[in-house]
Amino acid sequence: MDLNARLVAQRAAFAAEPWPSLAVRRSRLDRLLALTVDHEDQIVAAIDADFGGRSAHETRLAELFVVAGGIRHARAHLKRWSCTRRVPTALHFRPARNRLMPQPLGVVGIVSPWNYPFQLALGPCVAALAAGNRVMIKPSELTPCFSALLARLIAAAFDPDEVAVVTGGVDVGQAFVGLPFDHLFFTGSTAVGRQVAVAAAANLTPVTLELGGKSPAIVDRSADPVQAAERIAFAKLLNAGQTCIAPDYLLVPRGMARPMADHLAAAVRRLYPAMPETPDYTAILSPRHRDRLAALVEDARGHGAQVVALADPQRAGAKYPPTLILDATPAMRVMREEIFGPLLPILEVDDIDAAIAHVVAGDRPLALYWFGRDAGRRDRILRETHAGGVTINDCLWHLAQEDQPFGGVGASGTGAYHGEWGFRTFSHYKPVLDQPRLAGTALFHPPYGKRFDRLLALLRHM
Ligand code: NAD
Repeated sequence: MDLNARLVAQRAAFAAEPWPSLAVRRSRLDRLLALTVDHEDQIVAAIDADFGGRSAHETRLAELFVVAGGIRHARAHLKRWSCTRRVPTALHFRPARNRLMPQPLGVVGIVSPWNYPFQLALGPCVAALAAGNRVMIKPSELTPCFSALLARLIAAAFDPDEVAVVTGGVDVGQAFVGLPFDHLFFTGSTAVGRQVAVAAAANLTPVTLELGGKSPAIVDRSADPVQAAERIAFAKLLNAGQTCIAPDYLLVPRGMARPMADHLAAAVRRLYPAMPETPDYTAILSPRHRDRLAALVEDARGHGAQVVALADPQRAGAKYPPTLILDATPAMRVMREEIFGPLLPILEVDDIDAAIAHVVAGDRPLALYWFGRDAGRRDRILRETHAGGVTINDCLWHLAQEDQPFGGVGASGTGAYHGEWGFRTFSHYKPVLDQPRLAGTALFHPPYGKRFDRLLALLRHM
């Protein structure tokens, strides 16, 4: 069935059941949970094949555990989220009554990237199904084994009019985002996100854009450098840095770059004693991405950076050695492009004003990390910089909070999901005013005269 016919069929199915009951929504979430739990080994193996080496533990933690947690959370809170709520009504409109009614939007499209292919395809799907929608998913062509498996698993668990997976490359992606969905949810690069927003605008389709960018980690003088280094190393090397919220670069106080580099090297030795061969360390998705990382390093070297490889490149194979880049400058590509790999530039700054100025001068990042104990400087960072989300004294973990929204700001994205925030993204909150038989608003009707003027004068002073 072609894309358009699939959308038309889903739309007809939605029209036949525009208000899915709690039982129907729960059944969809249960099937998604069963798919996640029952096919863990197959999912782990498919992603491993696509990456040419993806840590099974990382797939279980960052994909299966996160999605299963999101499904359980949605299931537990679904009733409360989907309730119509009473809303206050101003005195002069009473006895009319206000209520706010979350309504499913209809058919939503989800476009997902390759780096966490399971989490980023199914995370939004959980929210869309909880909110009562039909879903079409277009996963990345760069993870062909996983995308084919997802299509099979979804087809076995869902009627294609409930959830359908559409596979294909950029041409299919372009056709997909040109469909008149009721909502389009895109996760991927900022450059493609821009094109997606333009395509959706032609249909006035509302979009959520979960994009990328350069997320800074700022280490304050008051930080414990050993602990900060271990947490930064973990976050940077999870999925070999191919993580949208990975710390992209470090800002450290002047004179701290060398000691911090030593702490990071020690942390990497502790976390990955057999680097780079260990199966705990994930490979880079493709030769093209490895070449891109190598070109970033060469460019930095050419601009005078000191490059410290934390593993032997000859033994790395499909992996890329964790690499620290000291004396990084804004002229280097590694400081201008999203790195999306295990390279970590370390920049020294004079003080907190310089750190804030650096962050504010760039695009608004998806995440920001701050390490330290000084509450005054912490609050200045929080108030004077923008970022999609923040973890203090660690990295990444704000993403796993189901009670908090996850999303970007500015160039790192628009809109949010996770927990109730995802439910809201895929619902229309319809305000409803119930007017009784006897209503004071009749006093506003023409013919206008003294009664009208007196009433308005009275209300102006309320
Ligand atoms: P990408 O933008 O190249 O591709 C994402 C998806 O869009 C894929 O399914 C692809 O097939 C499709 N696509 C590509 N070109 C298209 C077009 N012209 N029209 C419509 N669809 C198109 O991104 P990627 O390389 O797969 O992922 C890496 C990027 O995603 C990084 O920038 C990363 O920061 C970002 N990312 C963001 C988040 C987040 O939650 N904000 C999460 C993961 C990744």
